[in-house]
Amino acid sequence: MRVGAQHAGERQDASIVASSLVAVIGPPGAGKTTVVTALAQLRGLPVFRLRQALITYSDMLADLAPSTDPLGWVGIHAVHRILRAAFIDDRIGAGVGPVLLDNFPGTAQQLHQLAEVAAVIGRSMALLELRANGSTVAGRVATRRICTSCSSDRHAPASVSVTDPVRCARCGAQLVRRDSDTPTRHALRLARYRVNVDEIIEQAGCLQIPHLAVVANHPPDVVYRLAQEAFIKLTTQPGSVLRMTRGASYDYCLTHAYPSP
Ligand SMILES: [Zn+2]
Repeated sequence: MRVGAQHAGERQDASIVASSLVAVIGPPGAGKTTVVTALAQLRGLPVFRLRQALITYSDMLADLAPSTDPLGWVGIHAVHRILRAAFIDDRIGAGVGPVLLDNFPGTAQQLHQLAEVAAVIGRSMALLELRANGSTVAGRVATRRICTSCSSDRHAPASVSVTDPVRCARCGAQLVRRDSDTPTRHALRLARYRVNVDEIIEQAGCLQIPHLAVVANHPPDVVYRLAQEAFIKLTTQPGSVLRMTRGASYDYCLTHAYPSP
């Protein structure tokens, strides 16, 4: 199978190409967590998730005022401390392979903060965007479920039983909707994402961070395949990524023109 050959090729290239912090962004319901989890499992890569880091590093945030944001967004000082703790003190990115960031950065300011940390640890960065239209994400959010019995992560998609679609395939418990997936909250999160994404992409261009967008309106297995292709391009062939033109192949496109060196 082709994937195996690519995987071997990637390992070979890892010593040549500076491995990246690969930021995976997209609207809520685009399939970020599914894609990141699958990529991480296939390649044995570390994953950074802000919502988990908030729990891990809660002690060092104790003196900061808690976020009053209705959608639970994290303040700039907390993000600063978390990124430094995770990547500099705990050396998340210290290995040779890429690191995946699930749903981070959420703002251009967070992209800057991440770029600063990447510079300190000598890592390059890449931006992998899942791009999906409103009806696609609304449809996915309406049907996706989590298992609160066998998973402590209230965002991780459940394994759905093949015989009973409302039950967990692993433990048999009844699946529930994420708190943040109610129609009202999803609409708010989607609106906020749309407000921020253009600025994130523009900042990535200014910082010369390679950026590929995957069309994520396809079925999940197709989205994963496309994301995998884009991930390989971003982490092993940044030169060719820079030369790609919009819509060149695979259904992903380079969405930002890079300034000449
Ligand atoms: Zn379960």
